[in-house]
Amino acid sequence: MSDSSNLCPICGEGNLHPEVRTNPLEYIGQTTELGLHFSLCDACGSEQADAAQTRVNKRLMIAFKKRVDGLLIGAEVRALREKLGLSQAEAAQVFGGGPVAFSKYESDDVAQTEAMDKLLRLAAELPSAFGLLCRRAGIERALAGEQWQQAESWLAEPRRPTEARSLRLVSSSTPSNDQQVRYRDAA
Ligand SMILES: [Zn+2]
Repeated sequence: MSDSSNLCPICGEGNLHPEVRTNPLEYIGQTTELGLHFSLCDACGSEQADAAQTRVNKRLMIAFKKRVDGLLIGAEVRALREKLGLSQAEAAQVFGGGPVAFSKYESDDVAQTEAMDKLLRLAAELPSAFGLLCRRAGIERALAGEQWQQAESWLAEPRRPTEARSLRLVSSSTPSNDQQVRYRDAA
Protein backbone atom coordinates (compact mmCIF):
# COMPACT_ATOMS: atom_id res chain seq x y z
CA MET A 1 0.00 0.00 0.00
CA SER A 2 1.21 3.52 -0.73
CA ASP A 3 1.72 6.03 2.04
CA SER A 4 -1.23 8.14 0.88
CA SER A 5 -3.70 5.27 1.39
CA ASN A 6 -2.39 4.87 4.96
CA LEU A 7 -2.46 8.57 5.78
CA CYS A 8 -3.99 9.26 9.16
CA PRO A 9 -7.29 11.16 8.67
CA ILE A 10 -7.02 12.64 12.17
CA CYS A 11 -3.67 14.43 11.97
CA GLY A 12 -3.04 14.24 8.23
CA GLU A 13 0.66 13.69 8.97
CA GLY A 14 1.30 10.17 10.12
CA ASN A 15 0.73 6.77 8.58
CA LEU A 16 -1.65 4.17 9.91
CA HIS A 17 -0.28 0.75 10.79
CA PRO A 18 -2.56 -2.25 11.31
CA GLU A 19 -2.39 -3.78 14.78
CA VAL A 20 -4.10 -6.56 16.68
CA ARG A 21 -4.58 -6.15 20.40
CA THR A 22 -6.00 -8.68 22.80
CA ASN A 23 -9.09 -7.41 24.57
CA PRO A 24 -11.17 -9.17 27.21
CA LEU A 25 -14.84 -9.64 26.36
CA GLU A 26 -17.54 -10.79 28.74
CA TYR A 27 -20.87 -12.22 27.68
CA ILE A 28 -23.45 -13.59 30.12
CA GLY A 29 -20.84 -14.48 32.68
CA GLN A 30 -18.25 -15.98 30.34
CA THR A 31 -15.10 -14.17 29.40
CA THR A 32 -12.68 -14.56 26.53
CA GLU A 33 -9.79 -12.67 24.99
CA LEU A 34 -10.36 -11.49 21.45
CA GLY A 35 -7.63 -10.18 19.16
CA LEU A 36 -9.32 -7.02 17.91
CA HIS A 37 -8.11 -5.29 14.74
CA PHE A 38 -7.40 -1.57 14.47
CA SER A 39 -4.83 0.85 13.04
CA LEU A 40 -2.39 3.01 14.97
CA CYS A 41 -1.06 6.35 13.70
CA ASP A 42 2.72 6.65 14.00
CA ALA A 43 2.50 10.44 14.39
CA CYS A 44 -0.45 11.33 16.63
CA GLY A 45 -0.92 7.91 18.20
CA SER A 46 -4.65 7.79 17.50
CA GLU A 47 -6.30 4.42 17.09
CA GLN A 48 -9.03 3.78 14.56
CA ALA A 49 -10.76 0.82 12.93
CA ASP A 50 -11.82 1.02 9.31
CA ALA A 51 -14.88 -0.73 7.88
CA ALA A 52 -13.00 -3.97 7.16
CA GLN A 53 -11.43 -4.07 10.62
CA THR A 54 -14.76 -3.31 12.26
CA ARG A 55 -16.35 -6.16 10.31
CA VAL A 56 -13.64 -8.61 11.41
CA ASN A 57 -14.06 -7.53 15.05
CA LYS A 58 -17.83 -7.86 14.88
CA ARG A 59 -17.54 -11.38 13.46
CA LEU A 60 -15.15 -12.42 16.24
CA MET A 61 -17.60 -11.14 18.85
CA ILE A 62 -20.60 -12.85 17.26
CA ALA A 63 -18.67 -16.12 17.02
CA PHE A 64 -17.83 -15.91 20.73
CA LYS A 65 -21.47 -15.21 21.61
CA LYS A 66 -22.61 -18.15 19.49
CA ARG A 67 -20.17 -20.37 21.34
CA VAL A 68 -21.44 -19.19 24.73
CA ASP A 69 -25.07 -19.58 23.60
CA GLY A 70 -24.34 -23.16 22.55
CA LEU A 71 -24.86 -22.43 18.85
CA LEU A 72 -22.72 -23.66 15.96
CA ILE A 73 -20.14 -21.06 14.98
CA GLY A 74 -19.81 -20.06 11.33
CA ALA A 75 -17.07 -22.54 10.44
CA GLU A 76 -19.14 -25.36 11.95
CA VAL A 77 -22.25 -24.36 10.00
CA ARG A 78 -20.16 -24.39 6.83
CA ALA A 79 -18.66 -27.82 7.63
CA LEU A 80 -22.11 -29.21 8.39
CA ARG A 81 -23.61 -27.81 5.19
CA GLU A 82 -20.73 -29.17 3.11
CA LYS A 83 -21.08 -32.56 4.78
CA LEU A 84 -24.72 -32.54 3.68
CA GLY A 85 -23.64 -31.72 0.13
CA LEU A 86 -25.65 -28.50 -0.16
CA SER A 87 -24.75 -25.13 -1.65
CA GLN A 88 -25.59 -22.10 0.48
CA ALA A 89 -28.64 -21.41 -1.70
CA GLU A 90 -29.82 -25.01 -1.45
CA ALA A 91 -29.36 -24.97 2.32
CA ALA A 92 -31.67 -21.95 2.51
CA GLN A 93 -34.24 -23.79 0.39
CA VAL A 94 -34.07 -26.85 2.64
CA PHE A 95 -33.84 -25.18 6.06
CA GLY A 96 -35.24 -21.69 5.46
CA GLY A 97 -33.76 -18.39 6.56
CA GLY A 98 -33.73 -16.56 3.22
CA PRO A 99 -31.37 -16.59 0.24
CA VAL A 100 -28.30 -15.10 1.97
CA ALA A 101 -28.88 -16.68 5.38
CA PHE A 102 -26.11 -19.25 5.15
CA SER A 103 -23.56 -16.79 3.85
CA LYS A 104 -24.26 -14.70 6.96
CA TYR A 105 -24.29 -17.62 9.40
CA GLU A 106 -21.03 -18.99 8.01
CA SER A 107 -19.17 -15.69 8.10
CA ASP A 108 -20.46 -14.98 11.64
CA ASP A 109 -22.22 -11.83 10.44
CA VAL A 110 -25.42 -13.14 12.00
CA ALA A 111 -26.23 -15.77 14.61
CA GLN A 112 -28.75 -18.39 13.52
CA THR A 113 -31.74 -18.86 15.78
CA GLU A 114 -31.72 -21.65 18.32
CA ALA A 115 -34.45 -23.35 16.26
CA MET A 116 -32.34 -23.21 13.08
CA ASP A 117 -29.35 -24.52 15.02
CA LYS A 118 -31.33 -27.50 16.29
CA LEU A 119 -32.70 -28.20 12.82
CA LEU A 120 -29.21 -28.23 11.31
CA ARG A 121 -27.86 -30.60 13.95
CA LEU A 122 -30.87 -32.87 13.54
CA ALA A 123 -30.41 -33.01 9.76
CA ALA A 124 -26.75 -33.92 10.22
CA GLU A 125 -27.59 -36.67 12.72
CA LEU A 126 -30.57 -38.22 10.94
CA PRO A 127 -30.23 -38.80 7.18
CA SER A 128 -33.90 -39.72 7.08
CA ALA A 129 -34.99 -36.35 8.48
CA PHE A 130 -32.60 -34.57 6.15
CA GLY A 131 -33.88 -36.57 3.18
CA LEU A 132 -37.44 -35.59 3.99
CA LEU A 133 -36.55 -31.89 4.21
CA CYS A 134 -34.70 -32.10 0.90
CA ARG A 135 -37.62 -33.78 -0.77
CA ARG A 136 -40.02 -31.12 0.50
CA ALA A 137 -37.68 -28.45 -0.87
CA GLY A 138 -37.58 -30.22 -4.23
CA ILE A 139 -33.89 -31.09 -3.86
CA GLU A 140 -33.54 -34.82 -4.39
CA ARG A 141 -29.92 -35.00 -5.38
CA ALA A 142 -28.40 -33.86 -2.10
CA LEU A 143 -28.01 -37.29 -0.56
CA ALA A 144 -25.61 -39.95 -1.77
CA GLY A 145 -27.20 -43.21 -2.89
CA GLU A 146 -26.57 -45.11 0.30
CA GLN A 147 -28.01 -42.33 2.45
CA TRP A 148 -31.12 -42.22 0.28
CA GLN A 149 -31.64 -45.92 0.82
CA GLN A 150 -31.52 -45.31 4.57
CA ALA A 151 -33.97 -42.46 4.23
CA GLU A 152 -36.32 -44.47 2.02
CA SER A 153 -36.33 -47.43 4.37
CA TRP A 154 -37.00 -45.20 7.34
CA LEU A 155 -39.86 -43.50 5.54
CA ALA A 156 -41.39 -46.84 4.55
CA GLU A 157 -40.96 -48.25 8.04
CA PRO A 158 -41.10 -45.39 10.51
CA ARG A 159 -41.19 -47.48 13.69
CA ARG A 160 -37.89 -49.18 14.18
CA PRO A 161 -37.14 -49.64 17.88
CA THR A 162 -33.59 -50.85 17.20
CA GLU A 163 -32.81 -47.46 15.71
CA ALA A 164 -33.83 -45.65 18.86
CA ARG A 165 -30.39 -46.03 20.40
CA SER A 166 -28.91 -43.88 17.67
CA LEU A 167 -30.87 -40.91 18.99
CA ARG A 168 -28.22 -39.08 20.93
CA LEU A 169 -27.66 -35.62 22.22
CA VAL A 170 -26.43 -33.56 19.32
CA SER A 171 -24.88 -30.75 21.30
CA SER A 172 -21.13 -30.36 21.12
CA SER A 173 -20.81 -30.93 24.85
CA THR A 174 -20.28 -34.43 26.12
CA PRO A 175 -23.39 -35.86 27.73
CA SER A 176 -22.98 -36.85 31.34
CA ASN A 177 -23.26 -40.47 32.37
CA ASP A 178 -26.53 -39.59 34.01
CA GLN A 179 -27.96 -38.34 30.73
CA GLN A 180 -26.76 -41.42 28.86
CA VAL A 181 -28.44 -43.67 31.40
CA ARG A 182 -31.72 -41.80 31.07
CA TYR A 183 -31.59 -41.99 27.28
CA ARG A 184 -30.95 -45.68 27.45
CA ASP A 185 -33.84 -46.19 29.87
CA ALA A 186 -36.12 -44.27 27.56
CA ALA A 187 -35.16 -46.44 24.57
ZN1 LIG B 1 -2.42 10.68 13.14
